[in-house]
Amino acid sequence: ADEVALDPWGSSTIADYRKLFEEFGIEEFDEILDEVPNPHYLMRRGVIFGHRDYRPVLEAMRDGDDFAVLSGFMPTGDPHIGHKLVFDEIIWHQQQGGDAYGLIADMEAHSARGISWDEIDEHSRDYLLSLIALGFDTEEGELYRQSDNDRLQRLAFELGGKANYSEFEGIYGFDGETNISHMQSVVTQMADILYPQLDDPKPTVIPVGPDQDPHVRFARDLATRMRFFKVTEAFASFELDDSERPVVAAAYDAREEYADDADMPRCGEAAEWLADANLDAAGILVDESVRDSAVEKLENAGMEPLRPRIRFFARQATDEAFEALIEEIEGEKRRYDQHIDAFDVDVAEAEDLAREVEAHHGGYGFIPPSSIYHRFMTGLTGGKMSSSIPASHISLLDDPEDGYNKVKSATTGGRDTAEEQRRLGGEADKCPVYELYAYLLTGDDDELAKEVYDECVGGERLCGGCKEQAATMMREFLEDHQEKRDEAEEILDSLDIDLET
Ligand code: SF4
Repeated sequence: ADEVALDPWGSSTIADYRKLFEEFGIEEFDEILDEVPNPHYLMRRGVIFGHRDYRPVLEAMRDGDDFAVLSGFMPTGDPHIGHKLVFDEIIWHQQQGGDAYGLIADMEAHSARGISWDEIDEHSRDYLLSLIALGFDTEEGELYRQSDNDRLQRLAFELGGKANYSEFEGIYGFDGETNISHMQSVVTQMADILYPQLDDPKPTVIPVGPDQDPHVRFARDLATRMRFFKVTEAFASFELDDSERPVVAAAYDAREEYADDADMPRCGEAAEWLADANLDAAGILVDESVRDSAVEKLENAGMEPLRPRIRFFARQATDEAFEALIEEIEGEKRRYDQHIDAFDVDVAEAEDLAREVEAHHGGYGFIPPSSIYHRFMTGLTGGKMSSSIPASHISLLDDPEDGYNKVKSATTGGRDTAEEQRRLGGEADKCPVYELYAYLLTGDDDELAKEVYDECVGGERLCGGCKEQAATMMREFLEDHQEKRDEAEEILDSLDIDLET
């Protein structure tokens, strides 16, 4: 496949992960694996293959600072072994000290997939039971359902005010036929992603499949927009002392991308103020043409622009914010009659300060969320693992005996004859049964995973015995998991989650 389409609601298979790195800027997980304090086996085995800006989460993990993990589940069918990857990722981050969130994306399931509320009710409970059974600590973490979370809905409403229809067209391919509830479910999902930061901004990781990347990118964008709007206002009124001001300025400067499409009617006016005041350090975002004219004005006035750092808040500034800003600048003129030459500041420090300023003024202070991406499991019948093809997956609710049988009838990466297999070795890399070992059955036991692999490709392992072993392990896993699900019932019932519509 030459084309890699990232469509969160489509059924496209991601055939070439490499393209994701090149075209979408997803970074290779391998490059940061050494920085992970205690990497999960899915990380060690390359199942988690990519990330977007995961480092802030790692830093927080290493330094014992706050961080969060959140992922959601659309209750469109039974939870299956593919979902287990995400459950495990949430739980692992919780065990590393993160605030953990698991949510039921019922609004998305209903509006984007057309699942009835009855079906949603039926499946929601099953996802949460499996998540708890696998080790989610409900005393530390939070589980919720989108439609039943008022704070989430209020946040979604605010975020909706920062998004517009043409972006939905561009990002998700929405058109005139797209129903409004589907759009509402998108802002709800954006709110989910930022929800862990509602009380305190903190690095947050969203473990997902790569098809969900458009959501992550959009949420990162919205996080920044929310932040800027608030910072603009904060900046206009907050009394910073002289040493702090340039630092905040640099924080703004670090967001140059927002200077791209400035067409504020009042840019010119504000630029003149700036030029007159020679307020390089005010840190106001200006688009390049305006900046150039301001610089020119400085030069004409015989002043040397230290650095052309004047930029406008292009998209976000309201007229009121601008009025306030200009008033502020007027005041500043009296205080600052020369350049502030203090731009060599640490951007991270500057960002922290900007957030503080914002939080001080009741803003959100969101940190753009991070994500990690895992490979999709291959279906047991080859091709994609799909909830709608029962033989392709093993449901976490499958009768253990059915699980056993599905593994026994799975396709393999084996050769046509035993003789050939001994001579050439099996193709573990193309074998869904090997995936079962690597992704699930061997758990944390790297040695066992490696042994299966080496014996397979070395021709010492034949598929019959290999599948028998895997099938037996699968049966045991399902028995054990379902026992734990039974125990989880009581825990789930004790939580305040309304699972019936
Ligand atoms: Fe797959 Fe096992 Fe056969 Fe290798 S021996 S191809 S891992 S089933």
